[in-house]
Amino acid sequence: MVVEYVRVTCHACEGAGCTYCDRRGWVEVRPPATLCPSCGGDCCIYCGYTGWAGLRPKYDDPEAPPSCGGP
Ligand SMILES: [Zn+2]
Ligand SMILES: [Zn+2]
Repeated sequence: MVVEYVRVTCHACEGAGCTYCDRRGWVEVRPPATLCPSCGGDCCIYCGYTGWAGLRPKYDDPEAPPSCGGP
């Protein structure tokens, strides 16, 4: 099953781009987008300093070549 993610603004940089969001200014989280329960969006180690819960795993990289699909 493919999990859809939603883009939310990185709380560490407020969209400016930082190392925690790979300089994109946003991160992908599992819907519904929920603020990190540990810090309430203030960023902590549990949310990877993005302020969000349900962060997309690092190994699930969109830059990686797809294993299947395509025209
Ligand atoms: Zn950031
Ligand atoms: Zn947190």
